Amino acid sequence: TPIQRQTSKQRFVSEFSRCLFDFVIQLLPTTEELTIKEDVRKLLERLIRTIEPESRLLSFGSTANGFSLRNSDMDLCCLIDSEERLSASDLVTMLGDLLERETKFHVKPLPHARIPIVKLSLEPSPGLPYGIACDIGFENRLALENTRLLMCYAMIDPPRVRTMVLFLKVWCKRRKINSPYKGTLSSYGYVLLVIFFLVHVKNPPVLPNLQQMPALRPISPEETHLNGHNIWFFDDIRLLRQRWQSSNTESVAELLVDFFRYYSRDFNYNNGVVSIRAGLLKKDGKGWQSDSDRGTARERNRLCIEDPFEVDFNVSRCVTRDGLYTVRGELMRASRILASRPERAIVALAQLCE
Ligand code: ATP
Ligand code: MG
Repeated sequence: TPIQRQTSKQRFVSEFSRCLFDFVIQLLPTTEELTIKEDVRKLLERLIRTIEPESRLLSFGSTANGFSLRNSDMDLCCLIDSEERLSASDLVTMLGDLLERETKFHVKPLPHARIPIVKLSLEPSPGLPYGIACDIGFENRLALENTRLLMCYAMIDPPRVRTMVLFLKVWCKRRKINSPYKGTLSSYGYVLLVIFFLVHVKNPPVLPNLQQMPALRPISPEETHLNGHNIWFFDDIRLLRQRWQSSNTESVAELLVDFFRYYSRDFNYNNGVVSIRAGLLKKDGKGWQSDSDRGTARERNRLCIEDPFEVDFNVSRCVTRDGLYTVRGELMRASRILASRPERAIVALAQLCE
């Protein structure tokens, strides 16, 4: 009967929510890991200052945005506060030499990449069973700001937002659809899909749009713009939590079921652009068509996710036709597993991440 179906659904989602929390908690980094990573950051900062005394080395990406899993890589950004400074590619070369001499890291400088970086890695050891992988970039201030934006979203409703994001990060890694180099989507892209869903798809929304909230005081353009991009957002989360409360009471399991349904069935991949800043946009409006033209530039816009600050930049431009096909197939698979509501929620979770 409909009533029996309703209660079986309720039983499933409440059990599945519990499973999700338990699962995600085990995957968080240990305090030991966080301490080691902070020590590594400090060591590297000290070394870089022997080349550029006015520099700071800051974390961004998952180590700084609240969406870190155990053993995730470290993204570091070097900021130099002096006027005269070396070019990024010279710095990469010099820093590469220095780190090779002074540390045990495997060092791979990429001075001629589009964004010059130094790649570092450390072999696994008893104290660090998975080793460390780390990228050091230069002057990437927008990445620091988008990291701060994601961190603020994570802080508004950690039980639902962090659980959903962390679960999806594990899911996409296990299902092998988290490799921009192979035509699928970066972690950053998946996080933007989740935030878009919670801000713009769910009604009532689970999260407010931090980029469209009224500011508390007048702000000058110099304060809000960086390299021509508007980077302002409401970042006083303590105040926000006093003034704004979501009237959406769905559990994390219900949200996840709906997330998979939305991106496997409802989202229009042919014309839609995911924008956490402005809601659902159209490819035509942004000049991001991906019509039947083969190859060349058009291949870039199979999936369109607008960067929150660099609005001309499609975060998912590396997603290829085959990559998108695979990702959508996985979203459908997940949606199907959840719709079948296996007897035990833990079985659903295991199947999802098989
Ligand atoms: P993981 O734990 O899998 O490493 P992550 O949260 O660090 O996930 P990444 O995809 O490694 O996510 O991205 C790290 C940071 O680099 C992002 O927070 C963002 O600032 C920047 N970034 C990564 N990919 C892009 C992209 N396609 N466009 C713009 N910025 C990006
Ligand atoms: Mg990372």
